[in-house]
Amino acid sequence: MGWKKKQFAVIGLGRFGGSVCKELHQMGHDVLAIDLDEKKVAEYAEFASHALQLDSTSERALKSSGVTNFEHVIVAIGEDIQTSILTTLILKDLEIPKIYVKAQNRYHQKVLMKIGVEQVLQPEIEMGKKIAETLGSQKIVDSINLSADYSITELLATPKVNDKSLNELNIRPKFGVTVLAIKRGEQLNISPMPADTLQAGDILTVLGTKKSIHRFDRVGL
Ligand code: ATP
Repeated sequence: MGWKKKQFAVIGLGRFGGSVCKELHQMGHDVLAIDLDEKKVAEYAEFASHALQLDSTSERALKSSGVTNFEHVIVAIGEDIQTSILTTLILKDLEIPKIYVKAQNRYHQKVLMKIGVEQVLQPEIEMGKKIAETLGSQKIVDSINLSADYSITELLATPKVNDKSLNELNIRPKFGVTVLAIKRGEQLNISPMPADTLQAGDILTVLGTKKSIHRFDRVGL
């Protein structure tokens, strides 16, 4: 499956909505940026295909914004829960296929789930988990979740593995983890051979279940 341009509307250009908007725009997608605050709209005009000032609790305003042409709509109004819920209800009525809403707290999350939002976002909680995972291990450099169970993770090699080959370390049979690449300084060895050796300071890109990667991180490196 190749890359496909998607259509996103982001309502609420605070820190969260703003960074979602910028990132999607940078990735080359169509982004409609919406905020009540004229200053925010002006600020994000260069990071969106279109930027509009409107009150998202007005059904008429939302309809005339063309938001109904968008498959994905992200509601990133956090602080005022009532505004977020009302906006979401209107989007549901407009039959937007994919609605993502940032929840401020558990009560907000519950209400959103009750009104049928499948994608309730809790960036602070998600980010907290991700940071804890990184901090918990001194060796995890970065991690991408592929699914709830699988991830691709960058791990820092310690002197424990100095001059040992992948074969000797028996990584895949022993830990169920596949080494996709080894980075040494500026040099990147992609799809390393079994005889390739490791050095302390190497960064290994590995693929596997999170559980097996954690075990490899704890006892294998
Ligand atoms: P952050 O992501 O910065 O933590 P937050 O969760 O505190 O943000 P708010 O600051 O409450 O969220 O709202 C984010 C943005 O949503 C603000 O820029 C605000 O102007 C905008 N906003 C609030 N109400 C509306 C509305 N009715 N229609 C459109 N935009 C709105």
